[in-house]
Amino acid sequence: MTELNDMPPEELQRHGHDVFDWIARYFGEIEELPVLSTALPGQVAAKLSGPMPEQGSGFDSIMEEFERTLLPGITHWNHPAFMAYFGITASGPGILGEALAAALNVNAMLWRTSPAATELEEVTLDWLRQMVGLPDAYRGHLQDTASTSTMVALAAAREAAGIDVREQGLAGRDLPRLKVYCSEDAHSSVDKAAVTLGIGLENVRRIPMDRRHRMRPDALAAAVANDRLTGALPIAVVATAGTTSTTAVDPIDEVAEVCERENLWLHVDGAYGGSAAILPELRHLFIGWERADSIVINPHKWLFVPIDCSALFLRNPELLRRAFSVLPEYLVTPEGSSVTNLMEYGPALGRRFRSLKLWMTFCYFGRQGLADRIAEHIRLAQQFAEWVGEEEGWVVAAPVPFSTVCFRCEPPELDPAAVERINSDLLERINSTGEVFLSHTRIGGKFTLRIAIGNIRTEERHVRRAWELLRACAKEVQ
Ligand SMILES: *Cc1c(COP(=O)(O)O)cnc(C)c1O
Repeated sequence: MTELNDMPPEELQRHGHDVFDWIARYFGEIEELPVLSTALPGQVAAKLSGPMPEQGSGFDSIMEEFERTLLPGITHWNHPAFMAYFGITASGPGILGEALAAALNVNAMLWRTSPAATELEEVTLDWLRQMVGLPDAYRGHLQDTASTSTMVALAAAREAAGIDVREQGLAGRDLPRLKVYCSEDAHSSVDKAAVTLGIGLENVRRIPMDRRHRMRPDALAAAVANDRLTGALPIAVVATAGTTSTTAVDPIDEVAEVCERENLWLHVDGAYGGSAAILPELRHLFIGWERADSIVINPHKWLFVPIDCSALFLRNPELLRRAFSVLPEYLVTPEGSSVTNLMEYGPALGRRFRSLKLWMTFCYFGRQGLADRIAEHIRLAQQFAEWVGEEEGWVVAAPVPFSTVCFRCEPPELDPAAVERINSDLLERINSTGEVFLSHTRIGGKFTLRIAIGNIRTEERHVRRAWELLRACAKEVQ
């Protein structure tokens, strides 16, 4: 019955070599590919249309189809000129770790379903905790994304609020409205968590920001007081360390003050910015986060680990366990409470062996290697901001604490409507070159360009080229 077996080992070895040759070639030639896919909607699906193959085919022909049909529909996040949103990187060690994790294919749901997967997760996250300077008390858990980490953290906050939603649910009870607070620029994942957890979008209070786009603690305190007066139940505050729009850092220490006084859960969203706490010279931005109940940092964002990999730290992991632990008989093991069973700390039972790629990336680069790369990205962003600031008709639109610059082309002779049009046309124009990919945000209602440096392969020449292209494209759209 050999025909019912998997791909034979010799074949796996041969194609494995081919795939890794392909990957190495890909990185060698990536700069010749358009960073932003030029595929039109439906184009990829149309090429794949037709029935599912009745009979299997050789892997060579599958690879050919991958190159021919799928590759044109790929936006190259690994391209050194990918500077939109927040850059992410599949580093070499991360890719190898991901491949090995797929090969082992362990499910890290229980300690005994792979002790190494659980213990490596505990060890690597403790390394991360130490790298970013958080106190010993914090325990880390890997989730897929920051959106899940924040949702899970807010579920723990809801549990900690003592209203027993776990047992009784939310509907059909006499409960006050639950309130969650975050800044106007906090990530949409806070809204999604409110939707998922039955808190409701109306109960996410967006707190006004100061001129540097940071949550105003006085406005937070006022909102909480006001909500208490109306009979609502404030449960949590999400402070952001590096907002997605401008990378502003909320005054975490002052927000923590309010949380402690009001007995509110403090969650810090450092999905992007948190990694920069590896640099001692930037620690001052994070003062107060050691008072948080939970903190999320995404190694898949700025620590060169392939997506997905999000680290959620909790000061009291027992609250997370209380929120999510359900233990049916078929999951009971003789180790009992002498071990950690990670499935108790989130909504999923099955868990990928994500810590393997994290560990391999950490070991390969070392703390110093990671810190040097993050410092270089910040240097490049400061450099870019300097070029923009010195150029007539261009402005830097927000402070630059990390590696992201918000900026606008503002020719002095043009009226505001024309300036708006120029900036949005400029973005389309530069992205259509295929040489660089930028994105935008809105600051004070104004369309603002945004360059985010975070890919491990980005060098000064790529940032310089982006600036050259921006100036050239700006002339074309005026
Ligand atoms: C990217 C980002 C998120 C969402 O991250 P995912 O891992 O994609 O869910 C949340 N918050 C901030 C501040 C981010 O920058």
